Amino acid sequence: MNQTPNEKELWMTALGEIELAVSRTNFSTWFKNTELKKHDDGSITIYAPNIFNREWLENKYNTIILTALQRADVSITNIRYEVAVGGNYSVGNGNSTILLSKKPQAQENQPQQPTAQQGPASTEEYDATSNLNARYSFDSFVIGSHNELAFAACQAVAKKPGNTYNPLFLYGGVGLGKTHLLQATGNALMKNFGKNVLYSTSEKFTSELITSIGRRTTSNFKSKYREIDVLIVDDIQFIAGKEKTQDEFFHTFNELYSLNKQIIISSDRPPKAIATLEERLRSRFEGGMVADISMPDLETRVAILEKKCEQKGVAIIREVLQYIATHVAHNIRELEGALNRVLAINQLNGTTITLDSAKSILSTTFETPKKKAVHMDKVVEAVCGYYNIVHSEIFSKSRRKEIVRPRQVAMYLLRKDNGSSFPTIGSSFGGRDHTTAMHACEKIEGELETDDILQQDIILIRQKIYA
Ligand code: ADP
Ligand code: MG
Repeated sequence: MNQTPNEKELWMTALGEIELAVSRTNFSTWFKNTELKKHDDGSITIYAPNIFNREWLENKYNTIILTALQRADVSITNIRYEVAVGGNYSVGNGNSTILLSKKPQAQENQPQQPTAQQGPASTEEYDATSNLNARYSFDSFVIGSHNELAFAACQAVAKKPGNTYNPLFLYGGVGLGKTHLLQATGNALMKNFGKNVLYSTSEKFTSELITSIGRRTTSNFKSKYREIDVLIVDDIQFIAGKEKTQDEFFHTFNELYSLNKQIIISSDRPPKAIATLEERLRSRFEGGMVADISMPDLETRVAILEKKCEQKGVAIIREVLQYIATHVAHNIRELEGALNRVLAINQLNGTTITLDSAKSILSTTFETPKKKAVHMDKVVEAVCGYYNIVHSEIFSKSRRKEIVRPRQVAMYLLRKDNGSSFPTIGSSFGGRDHTTAMHACEKIEGELETDDILQQDIILIRQKIYA
């Protein structure tokens, strides 16, 4: 299917607008492989690369697309969404025209089975072969706007592994449900298709590789990771800077990918933000589906707590859950932790939980304000660690981009979270002027408005500082 130059121009104009209205990840996920056809009656057909993508455009983005198209061409009345069939085509991304090779269509002939129906598991055990824990299921996962994309992508993979999204790359901060989703997807694939799944972490992968080199058993290592149907690697960010591991992982990846085996990866940050990740791996990771998980809103946090109570078979009044959810906003593991604390202490006392008793149980946990002023060293340490630079560099006169950004972020955090004065910040960083500190804060503040990756960076660095 080919667009005429007019259609191409119309779609490029609209995409330029759409790009401003949606996040960068969503834009590249949903609009990259799309085309537009204009019919004589003024109606439009948008072609998406697969069914899932088409549904998402239609259900989530129809209004945005229609508004953008009508702004470019008032005669447009309505839009239909269809799946493109075959061929290579070029599409605009708003700035440039890129040539994309269309991925094979998802196979339609695979059995469609219901997703995993596992209740809360009675054991915490991991299956020895797959490293999967039956505790994690889609059913026990609460969906909110912060994770709906990641959840939908996992479900799509669980229904059609190896085709729809390969690799699937999930990223998000600590305790936000990445491992849960990865494990749930693995469990569903094993249950529904009898797939040979292997769940690992990048640290486990690295240590097994090292051991196998030492014992001269690398062929066993290779077959373990290559003779499977689905490879799940959690927390891939720890592969950064490890050349040999990256090399081995690259070959493992290619082998599995060439056989249409599903690969699912998680990270605390998007591929672009993983320092010292080889370009060839980065482009592999970005070549499939990248979905983020952000912080859940208050309602979702309450819903998660309700789900946990349901699983534990306990009833707790809404005010208590509301109270916990209000105080723990950034980490679902901590949310669960606070709930468990209330339950445990209450069980000891043998009374029912009231808002007052919950408050008193949690008073020590919640009393320390989330963002108490922290020592400057801690901020610098977290920033340097995150960006993988050494301390002396952040205080140096270096104007290198890789140093300037972390330095500005550190200044920004000291100002925002610690309330340090500009002169203090300036002089702490190698005797700089207060205007340098002001400029740094303004710059980061400005960029935060549009830069998703920077937003993510700051969230993760704050997690490191305040954890
Ligand atoms: P991460 O891997 O991102 O650090 P986890 O997947 O380990 O986070 O999640 C931390 C805890 O929170 C787990 O016990 C998990 O089951 C729970 N959890 C996270 N997100 C959800 C959710 N949306 N619904 C229910 N439980 C969740
Ligand atoms: Mg995890």
